[in-house]
Amino acid sequence: MRTTLLAMLIFLLSVPARAAKTLNFYFIDVEGGQSTLVVSPSGESMLIDTGWPGERDAGRILDACHRAGVKRIDYLVVTHYHLDHVGGVPDLAARIPVGTFVDHGASVEKDADGEKLFTAYERARANGHRLLAKPGEKIPISGIQVEIVSAAGQVLSKPLPGAGTPNPACSTSPPQQADPSENAQSVGLVISYGKFRLVDLGDLTWNKELDLMCPNNKLGMTDVYLTSHHGLKISGSPALVAALHPRAAIMNNGARKGGDPEAWQTVHNSLGLEDLWQLHYAEASSPQNNAPDELIANTGKDEGHFIELLAQSSGEFTITNSRNGKTKTYKP
Ligand SMILES: [Zn+2]
Ligand SMILES: [Zn+2]
Repeated sequence: MRTTLLAMLIFLLSVPARAAKTLNFYFIDVEGGQSTLVVSPSGESMLIDTGWPGERDAGRILDACHRAGVKRIDYLVVTHYHLDHVGGVPDLAARIPVGTFVDHGASVEKDADGEKLFTAYERARANGHRLLAKPGEKIPISGIQVEIVSAAGQVLSKPLPGAGTPNPACSTSPPQQADPSENAQSVGLVISYGKFRLVDLGDLTWNKELDLMCPNNKLGMTDVYLTSHHGLKISGSPALVAALHPRAAIMNNGARKGGDPEAWQTVHNSLGLEDLWQLHYAEASSPQNNAPDELIANTGKDEGHFIELLAQSSGEFTITNSRNGKTKTYKP
């Protein structure tokens, strides 16, 4: 009897304290496109964009799903209809079930390529449910908040709760030429779990950022900013970045796409920024306009390393570079 009790005690002491439930992000390397897998503490999954057409990106997304224990994409958000975001949908949807497709409506790009891309997406979408993204509405994932802040060229009409203060950085970001492309139609999201917040605006461009952030900041501050539009300089205005005031940024650039020195510098200069992580070393930039090597997931060619982020409701989060295991925890 005593032996049994002793054995039970040893077993109980050897069981690690139950890990806190986390909101998990996998920033998948799709070589200059976007694909971000989000897994809620309740186990529901949301994939934001699917990268380019073909085996490579679908395979990398499935690897991330496998790693996260995801067997079904509950929500697939298509930010906009460009090849590096929606191109991978047919390949991916043929390999893993998708519950609900979330998009901004019809494509505004009516040329032959635009039509072909949109038709291929519509065909894949016919196999699932569909949710039309509207600013001010939510994607219903239990345990976390997924707020739609931009879609179809529209932005929030009123600030998110707790946001709405004047934004002094607006004066440093004069409007640019209007953008008639799909980028300006991007579905933008603020994802939060307790005190943790992350902002992902897809490829939303400069003037729409101003609509969201000027004269008052409708989004409030964030812990993590996924750089808009791969770090191209027609997005990521100081008015957006300074007002978001992120502690960490993740740049989803490719080796030869995005990561523009101007956009990089805006993030780097943002007050309160502790680290800028990159999916790739930006080859066209100087080393001074790239993050330290240890924070870059891919420094060579076609390696497919990802960046992982685990967030707790306390606001604490941990980012890990899958290439070298470099990890950093950001205390609340
Ligand atoms: Zn893009
Ligand atoms: Zn785009």
